[in-house]
Amino acid sequence: MYEEDRNWWKKFHKGLREQSRFISCNPAPEVDHPTYEIVGKIERVDQRDTMQSRMMLKDPESPEYKDYYSRHPELKEIDDDNREKLKKSLKRHFETDPLGAHFQSNIFATRHLLGLPEVIDPGKEGTPLWQTMETDMSKITPEERTWRIKDYALVLGASKVRVGHLKKEWVYTHYAHPYSPYPYGKPVDDMDYPFIICLAMRQNLAMMRHRDHYVVCIEIGLRYSLTSVIAITLANLIRSWGFRARALPPENSPYMVPPMFIDAGMGEQGRMGICVTKEFGNNFRPAAVATDMPLIVDKPVDFGLQDFCDKCMVCADACPSGAIAKERTVRRGVRRWQVNDQKCRAYWNHLGGPCAICQAACPWNFESTPFHNLNRELNQRFRIYRKPAVWGFKLFYERKEWDPNPQWAYNPRGRPR
Ligand code: SF4
Ligand code: SF4
Repeated sequence: MYEEDRNWWKKFHKGLREQSRFISCNPAPEVDHPTYEIVGKIERVDQRDTMQSRMMLKDPESPEYKDYYSRHPELKEIDDDNREKLKKSLKRHFETDPLGAHFQSNIFATRHLLGLPEVIDPGKEGTPLWQTMETDMSKITPEERTWRIKDYALVLGASKVRVGHLKKEWVYTHYAHPYSPYPYGKPVDDMDYPFIICLAMRQNLAMMRHRDHYVVCIEIGLRYSLTSVIAITLANLIRSWGFRARALPPENSPYMVPPMFIDAGMGEQGRMGICVTKEFGNNFRPAAVATDMPLIVDKPVDFGLQDFCDKCMVCADACPSGAIAKERTVRRGVRRWQVNDQKCRAYWNHLGGPCAICQAACPWNFESTPFHNLNRELNQRFRIYRKPAVWGFKLFYERKEWDPNPQWAYNPRGRPR
């Protein structure tokens, strides 16, 4: 190897280390089964039933509106009321700061572009490479493919990458993402891939904890766009290696992220219903790639979160809408903590954008400093340590005031602090 090449590799590895430096704690122990409990037949979810999709049914004369509320008349009044709230909040934003009010929709529009069908899966011919050579992929082992893909994703900016089986039970039955380029109500019949590469990108905690709501919205939209770029790039790479791959950016991902990620060992389910990692809590945005390229699948993990959440109510106390459950319940064959999505969405609509206070509040979100890493290890290993750890968090770190003043959500300079 030439000296120049050697230096490049040294820098490459240095870059890799830098990229993941802030998640330098010991990995969570792997286990054979995820820590949520399956108690019956798992029923697949129709994406049309999600609050996000329901909120987009704005026109009472549209076929989608008529179809949905003829099947669910009991939800019409609740949803109409919620949509009205959102309309008022957006009006308020545009009156308060006509230019700033565009930031959120702008960054989410980027995410939308990155979810178009011709971007997520343009086929082999649609992704010409700058240079290419025939490679005999049969000589490359699944182990090598797996670690190379994971390393590449980290270089591109992912904070953590895991590989799982793409389980059909976590795939929606019908498409209905508000901005999905697929027709509303189209059956999801194109997710026939055996593997899924799960990507998590950590969010900037200072931005997520910001009092000005528009800052939080921009951080969320930006991370969604960046994870989309990583997923699209990986899918292109896999196609150029001769396998099928479909990027699953947030705008075009017809599956439930938490169980899919938990099965792949990204983390465990926390009280607020989403996946919590050992390394950076739930403070991340996801994307994924579905593929038929043989890969080595990761196992689920158990770092003591179920017991920790039993002792910790930080997210439930922080939630302004009371949407986070005190007890686990059974829904669609799984016993777990359920977030009341109607209450949660009502608060989003009152704000006029995503809330994510439960993401900013969780004690597992701390940086990987030696002190917080030591805490992570002690919490994982010693059940007896968890209660004092929660008390310590509440004493020194817990923030009592979360609710941003929505009147000033888009006017950072005018808002008193
Ligand atoms: S996003 Fe906000 S309203 Fe929804 S569960 Fe989390 S804290 Fe509660
Ligand atoms: S804030 Fe506490 S209860 Fe909520 S998910 Fe995090 S650790 Fe669990």
